[in-house]
Amino acid sequence: MSKNNQNSVLLLFTGGTISMAEDPTTGALRPIDFDRLQEYLPELKETGVRIKSVPFLPLIDSSDIDPNAWERMAKLIEENYDDFDGFIILHGTDTMAFSASALSFMLENLTKSVIFTGSQLPIGRMRSDAKENLLTAIEMAVAKENGRAVVPEVCIFFEDTLFRGNRTTKKNAEHFSAFNSYNYPPLAKAGVHIKYFNSVIHYPVEKKKLRLKTKTDRNITILKLFPGITQEVVDSILNIPNLKAVVLETFGAGNAPRKKWFQESLKKAIDKGIIIVNKTQCHTGSVEMGLYETSLNLLKAGVISGHDITTEAIVAKMMYLLGEYESADDVKKMLETDLCGEMTISSF
Ligand code: ASP
Repeated sequence: MSKNNQNSVLLLFTGGTISMAEDPTTGALRPIDFDRLQEYLPELKETGVRIKSVPFLPLIDSSDIDPNAWERMAKLIEENYDDFDGFIILHGTDTMAFSASALSFMLENLTKSVIFTGSQLPIGRMRSDAKENLLTAIEMAVAKENGRAVVPEVCIFFEDTLFRGNRTTKKNAEHFSAFNSYNYPPLAKAGVHIKYFNSVIHYPVEKKKLRLKTKTDRNITILKLFPGITQEVVDSILNIPNLKAVVLETFGAGNAPRKKWFQESLKKAIDKGIIIVNKTQCHTGSVEMGLYETSLNLLKAGVISGHDITTEAIVAKMMYLLGEYESADDVKKMLETDLCGEMTISSF
């Protein structure tokens, strides 16, 4: 915690567009010299917040982010947990929703804000959205009420909205409004004032010590269905050596072909111990296994419902659970459980 009541933020800089500026001679975009961050953002001083910046060198495009990077981010937060009021992770937008989801599982008993942000235009460009995104994220990361963080969650802040990180999806490759949370309301909106929606923010019931759970297992895959998918494609995916779990991206409310070969292939994989989770290809709404005959078969074969989870969150959740739990039954049980607000389990 800060001495003399000054709020404090740890800023982890991982890379992405927000960390780029044009080379004055070639005009090409390249990572900024990290020590010159203040030159691009002189306003940082005016926030009145003590900011310590830590670069993850080399700064990377978020396409190169992997579970090792998630572990590094989580560990840095743990090491600095008592010394800062809030944490900001500057990250490329492309895989930000995966990283925010992963950290929501890895940081158990979180009582402070961890906010991911980035930008669509490099920090060194005149019209960049970097400045507003970062400055507002800082204000939100240190916001407190009765001595506790207003948003003690892993979040994404972009343009004018604070989202729960594990509910977020990148929706637009060019607009400043690049993210959405289709199945969960925003946690806060920034206009002239910042409005926090306390009723949808998760608050810990008791204050427990932060616990890190950073083990992961990458032996998972996504099988996205499309009309006309062949048995060769399905079987070659389900027979990947060491495969432990599959995100089955289905149609509508969780529907899949009723063809005999398809059902048999899934059944064979499940009998071999592969875990299959049904995730709808729709952004909004939930899997409802058993609503149509086309999903009843999946239920009978032992496919688990992903309810209204995002692809980003289920990928991170699977890797995390397979890393942390030895028994497949435990992994299955946790996949069906809402661990930190990543899905809504409704009984239809
Ligand atoms: N390709 C970049 C990245 O995700 C895009 C961005 O930062 O917005 O790292």
